[in-house]
Parts: sequence; structure tokens; C-alpha cells
Amino acid sequence: MIILKSEAEIEKIAKASRIVASTLQSLRAFIKPGMTTLMLDAFAEKQIIEQGGVPAFKGYRNFPATLCVSVNEEVVHGIPSEKVIKEGDIVGMDLGVILDGFYGDAALTLPIGEVDSEVHRLLEVTEKSLYAGIAQALEGGRLSDISHAVQSAVEPAGYGIVTDFVGHGIGRSLHEEPQIPNFGPKGKGPRLREGMVLAIEPMVNLGKHEVKVLDDGWTAVSADGSLSAHFEHTVAITKEGPVILSQVEHDV
Ligand code: MG
Repeated sequence: MIILKSEAEIEKIAKASRIVASTLQSLRAFIKPGMTTLMLDAFAEKQIIEQGGVPAFKGYRNFPATLCVSVNEEVVHGIPSEKVIKEGDIVGMDLGVILDGFYGDAALTLPIGEVDSEVHRLLEVTEKSLYAGIAQALEGGRLSDISHAVQSAVEPAGYGIVTDFVGHGIGRSLHEEPQIPNFGPKGKGPRLREGMVLAIEPMVNLGKHEVKVLDDGWTAVSADGSLSAHFEHTVAITKEGPVILSQVEHDV
């Protein structure tokens, strides 16, 4: 069942999502070559707590950290560690916050210093596909209109759209119905309604779409070792159209 949210509930999700957004924004300024991914995690946790939020991922199905940090060929769910970030890497950061019983969730992928133009293009295409999906989060549409818009924005670039992970409804739980695949024909699935709040999150590999999960039980990597990008926003469907609750300024 898809849980519809009242305006007051959407405002609570927005408040949680604003902590996510501002923390990602701070991480954007903080991240430097030579840092470990654990340093990013500690920084994120401090930022969230200072703003009155609670890290949503820490302890979720025993995930050990506040921030998912996925470097280069890591797709999602990278566990912070002593791994050192280098010039030329791309770093995906996914963050969830609980505030007053409601969740917010967002992610972005940043280039560290100089990266190839092809790598920039991967980031740009993935982020644009997120916004193409968001633009279809419209009352009266169908869920797969979002999926199809993401796919249509990625496919011309020839990249691999990850199919093993999907977006999701969000509210009093981190993962609610519906699941939101990043591919598919339009016009299918549940009717989109005012009051739905969705975490839309395309994951795109520079190479083929297949992924595998490492022995740590969490870290998903591209099966062919190609670079992977991930962008995510928490979005409310309203009468006035989609409202991004986790907007981060200066997206790539
Ligand atoms: Mg998510």
C-alpha cells in the first residue's frame, strides 16, 4: 500500500530532508583528496546531530555508518573505511536523516579534482536523468512514467542503468511502497497522487549495468569494474507539481 501524506507530514519529511541537503552541501565543501571515507562519515554524523537530526542509515539492517560512501566502481552502499580519496576519483555520498519520526534521503556523486570529460559526462547524464524522472512525478500520471523518463535520459549515452536497486516511497519508514525502477515502459503501475513522497535515485554505470555485492554484504560494485554514479532526491507530489524536498544548491 502506498501511504499518502498530509501537508503537515510532508513538511516533516521536508525538515528531515533539509538536514540531508545541508549536510551533503557541507560535505561538498569539506571533501578533499587524502581524506578517508571514515572522515566523511564522522563529519556527516556531527552535522546531522548539530541540526537535531538522527542518522537514518546507522544501524539500519546493521549498516555500521551514517553515510554511504561509494568510490569509483562502487555503485551504492559503500561502508566508510580507511580508504583514502584521491584526485580523479568520483565519490558517491548517500545520506538519510530521521527528524520527528520522519525520514529524508538524498545522494550525489562528486568529482574529486580533475576528472576525464567522459567521467563528467557520466555524472551529468545521471543527474539529468534524476531531474527527468522528477519532472514526471505528477498527479494523475503513472509510476513508470518516472522510470521511463530516467531510462530515456540515460540510454542515448550508452551507459548501463543499474536494475538491481530501485527508488522507493519514504515517510515514517525509510523504505515504503512503491518501488521505483529506473527503467521500463511508461503508463504502467500505480496512479501518482498528491501526497505521495518518493525517493527517486538513478544509479548509472559507465559500462554494463550488472552489479555485484562484495563480501562485506553491503558494497555494490559494477560487475565490469566501470565507474558508477548515483543521484537521489526526496520528492513530494503536489497539486502544483513535484516539489524537491532535499534540494542541494550547486548540483554538479
Ligand atoms: Mg534512497
